[in-house]
Amino acid sequence: MDKLRFISFASGSSGNCFFIGNAYEGILIDAGIGIRTIKKELKEIGLDFSHLLGVFITHDHFDHVKAIPPLKEKYFVPIFATLAIHQVLRHEPVPERQILQKNIPVHVKEWVITAFEVSHDGTDNVGYTIEYQGKKFTLLTDLGYVCDNAAHHISQADYLVIEANYDEEMLETGSYPAMLKARIRSNKGHLSNSDAGKFLAENMHPNLKHIYLCHLSHSNNLPELAYCTVSDLLAEQGIVVGRDVELVTLERSSPSKLYIFD
Ligand SMILES: [Zn+2]
Ligand SMILES: [Zn+2]
Repeated sequence: MDKLRFISFASGSSGNCFFIGNAYEGILIDAGIGIRTIKKELKEIGLDFSHLLGVFITHDHFDHVKAIPPLKEKYFVPIFATLAIHQVLRHEPVPERQILQKNIPVHVKEWVITAFEVSHDGTDNVGYTIEYQGKKFTLLTDLGYVCDNAAHHISQADYLVIEANYDEEMLETGSYPAMLKARIRSNKGHLSNSDAGKFLAENMHPNLKHIYLCHLSHSNNLPELAYCTVSDLLAEQGIVVGRDVELVTLERSSPSKLYIFD
């Protein structure tokens, strides 16, 4: 049995792409960066497109799907998405096995992947839980709030990637037009640092030891602000970052380190 690995190739409104797998194979969640960058980053971890079991799409915003056409047409990587997303992306004909239904797990070799609803303003919006060797890796990016269904998935996660998009004060005082600010803050927008921190502080559980904050805004956030806001809110509940849980902010346009879990 090979150890679970995770790396973020990029995370934010200029592109999102995550790898979850082992030393030999794995999946991508989203492919919103250039195909050449994906190829290069896979090579860095000893893999190529033939090792990908599929790309699982969270939603149809461009920063999540940019590289889908070449992945499907040139490299023949299966694309997994809900029917609504496939229809928007005009992937035709779509073999049935690639159409995901929310809350129905799909088995790909020894990986079990479940899509679940999140609240955002794409055509259809999901997060994912990946089960491997009895552990659960849950990823939610781009969500306005944590709905009960998503909270249920987090309650069972050993590893979690969750959005910390903006600092509330930076957004408030920043240069975005009022309509865009309202969209970001809405229940179908993005999760702020304190939204993420409050949720985590109230919903921490003993199995959750690794938290990665994703989709940080370039204009309305800073990595250290996201980190401090979340760690301070956790500390109020007696949860100490570094002792009880690992907390990492994922960079926007450079890859994270490769995490290899025991
Ligand atoms: Zn996005
Ligand atoms: Zn989005």
